[in-house]
Amino acid sequence: MSDHPTPTIPATGREWHLKSRPVGWPKPEDFELAEGEIRPPGPGQILVRNEYLSVDPYMRGRMSAAKSYIAPFELGRAMEGGAVGKVVVSHADGIAPGDHVLHFGGWREYATIDAKQAVVVDPDAAPLSAYLGVLGMTGLTAYAGLLRTAGFKEGDIVFVSGAAGAVGSQVGQLAKLLGASRVIGSAGSDEKVKLLVDEYGFDAAFNYKKGPVAEQLRAAAPDGIDVYFDNVGGDHLEAAIGLLNLHGRIAICGMISVYNDTEAAPGPRNLARLIATRGRMQGFLVGDHYDLQPQFVQQVGPWIGSGELKYRETVMEGIEKTVDAFLGVLRGENVGKMVVKL
Ligand code: NAP
Repeated sequence: MSDHPTPTIPATGREWHLKSRPVGWPKPEDFELAEGEIRPPGPGQILVRNEYLSVDPYMRGRMSAAKSYIAPFELGRAMEGGAVGKVVVSHADGIAPGDHVLHFGGWREYATIDAKQAVVVDPDAAPLSAYLGVLGMTGLTAYAGLLRTAGFKEGDIVFVSGAAGAVGSQVGQLAKLLGASRVIGSAGSDEKVKLLVDEYGFDAAFNYKKGPVAEQLRAAAPDGIDVYFDNVGGDHLEAAIGLLNLHGRIAICGMISVYNDTEAAPGPRNLARLIATRGRMQGFLVGDHYDLQPQFVQQVGPWIGSGELKYRETVMEGIEKTVDAFLGVLRGENVGKMVVKL
């Protein structure tokens, strides 16, 4: 419990509401930046002034009313998401005003949350935004998906799509650092492709907008692939199945190419290849793998610190930019993790 005098708290703060459920691509009119009442924290709660908000592709799923692993956003209520902010008031043991916390009350300026749902982070150990990306949820997604779901082994040939994004760029570099024999990435612009090879050390990369994925992948992976880390789905998945080696493994992390579809896209036409290759394809959710967090930080933290594992962020400034930032992720305007700085 803090002895600090209670600071003056504004009565209201800005927060994003979902006004209508998008059909197809979300439009700015589907969202509203509203003025919401700031609830004073009760016992066991803290009030946080957010400094960074996370926008992530999975949020598109929460905008639809369909039942999924996480509840839909409620219309006319503050949306949620990962955020890092500074504690303004604390009525909780172990958290003091001035501490920085990682929590889930994003898409808003101020969040009143149960302290149990917040994790104190150290702004001196890493930039605050890194706790949303390379050291946070997307970093753990890369780590758990590659090591646990795909069962990565030294010597594997690895292909990752969405390779210049937050998850993908970490997957490719982790695979290299852990002894992959070849790492191939795909991304949506020549600049991103150059970044993958020149800066992140991928062995080969291609721009999926420049020609059929199957052909480009075949040229980049003359010895086939042992692991495919799927962030995209669609033709990428079919191309990867087509080049899968014996006992190949596919980790289905995301399928961003279908998130705005209004009709179900056709599935891969070559699934029968999984029989001859004894291939395995498995989806995963990072939420099931938080037991790996300490191991992830211990193993990957030093590589980030030393610069062996590089990362980029795309930072948009101001809460009013949150929807643009989210739409930007769907359009590929980001390099690395997209965050909003308040
Ligand atoms: P991100 O890769 O930083 O951003 C999304 C990227 O997707 C964009 O930059 C864009 O890059 C690419 N993209 C958009 N539309 C595309 C299309 N039609 N075809 C190919 N690429 C397209 O996002 P992230 O946060 O790291 O997430 C990456 C994937 O992982 C997403 O599918 C997400 O849903 C998934 N994910 C899953 C979990 C889990 O627990 N399973 C957790 C986190 C994220 P280009 O310029 O290259 O097109």
